[in-house]
Amino acid sequence: MSVDGEIWVICETRDGEILECCFELLGKAASLAARNGSNVCAVFFGEVPKAAALFASGAAKIYLSDGFERADDGLLAEAIAALARRHKPETLLMAATVRGRSIAPQAAALLNTGLTADCTDLHLEDGLLIQTRPALGGNLMAQIVCAAARPQMATVRPRVFPMPSLASGREGEIVRVPLKELLAEKTPAKAPERVGTEKISGNRRALNDADIILAGGMGLGGKAGFIRLEALADAVGASLAASRAAVHAGFAPYASQVGQTGVVVRPRLYVAFGISGAVQHLAGMSVSEYIVAVNTDGKAPIFRHAHFGLVADAMETLELLLSEFA
Ligand SMILES: Cc1cc2nc3c(=O)[nH]c(=O)nc-3n(C[C@H](O)[C@H](O)[C@H](O)COP(=O)(O)OP(=O)(O)OC[C@H]3O[C@@H](n4cnc5c(N)ncnc54)[C@H](O)[C@@H]3O)c2cc1C
Repeated sequence: MSVDGEIWVICETRDGEILECCFELLGKAASLAARNGSNVCAVFFGEVPKAAALFASGAAKIYLSDGFERADDGLLAEAIAALARRHKPETLLMAATVRGRSIAPQAAALLNTGLTADCTDLHLEDGLLIQTRPALGGNLMAQIVCAAARPQMATVRPRVFPMPSLASGREGEIVRVPLKELLAEKTPAKAPERVGTEKISGNRRALNDADIILAGGMGLGGKAGFIRLEALADAVGASLAASRAAVHAGFAPYASQVGQTGVVVRPRLYVAFGISGAVQHLAGMSVSEYIVAVNTDGKAPIFRHAHFGLVADAMETLELLLSEFA
C-alpha cells in the first residue's frame, strides 16, 4: 500500500546546533519514505534556519519555527501538537534525548495517539510503522504498531541509525510557522509548571558525543564517590556517567544514566567504577571502543565485556588516578 502522508522528524538544537541524532533520524526517515512515497519533513524550532543541512540529510520540507532552546518542554509539545493538527503527518519521530523523552510523550498525549519510546529499529509494512524496542528487561524485542491513531509516534535513541550521506545542493520547501502562532492554538489546559532545573555541571561534552566516559555504579559507595569521579572527569576532560542503581540512589542525575533506559554511548574509552555490568547497563555502552572495569568482584559480569579489568576497590583506584592526573 502506498501512503503519501508526511514523516516528520522533530529537530532538537543545543547551543544553536542541530543535534547529530536528528540527522540520523532524517536519514532513516528518508529510507522509510523511499519505500512508500511519503514526504520527509524536518520540524525545526531554530533561530537560524540551517536549511541546507536538513535538506542534504533527506528533508523535502522544513516547518520552521523558533524558540526550541528558550521554550520549556510543555510549550514545545503544545506547539508540535498544534502543527500536527494542522498538517496531519502520518508519522512523527523524535530522538530519545533527555528533552525528546520529555517533549514526545506530552505531544502524544495532546494528540491522543500512542508513542513507542526508545526504539532500536523502525520499518514500514503497508503504511504501518513497525517500531522495535527491547521489552521485559531486554529479554525480547517487541514490535509495536499504532494501528488506528495518527500520527504514529516514536522516539529513537541517538546513534541507533547511522549518519546519512549528505546530498549537498538538494533543495526543498520551507514553511514558516512562528511559535507564537502555534501556541495561540494550544489546548486550553494549564501549561505545565517548571518546578526546577537540574544543571548538568561543567563544560563537559554531552555523553552522546564524549570520547572518554568515566562511569560510576553502586560500588562507588555514595555521592561522595561521584564527587571524586567528577573531579577526575574534569581533570582528564571526560564525561560523567552512572548506572541506573546509582541514579536511583541519588548519587548522579538521570541525564547521566547509561543503558537501556538511559543514554546509549559509543566513546573511545569507557571506564566503569563499581558497576556490575547488568544487561540493561551493557545495552548502553557495550559498543564502546575500549572498556575498562574496576570492581572488587572478579566474577562481576562487566569483566566479560571489558578489554581491561582491575579487581580492586573503586575509591582506592580513583584516588590513585586523581593523584596522578588532578
Ligand atoms: C527494565 C529495566 C531497565 C533498566 N535500565 C537500566 C539502565 O538503563 N542502566 C543501568 O545501569 N541499569 C538499568 N537497569 C538496572 C540494572 O538491572 C542493574 O540493577 C544496575 O545496572 C546495577 O547498577 P550497579 O552495577 O551500579 O549496581 P550493583 O548491581 O549493585 O553492582 C555494584 C557493583 O559494584 C561492585 N562493588 C562493590 N563495592 C565495590 C568497591 N568498593 N569497589 C569496586 N567495586 C565494588 C560490586 O561487586 C558490584 O559488581 C534496568 C533494570 C530494568 C529491570
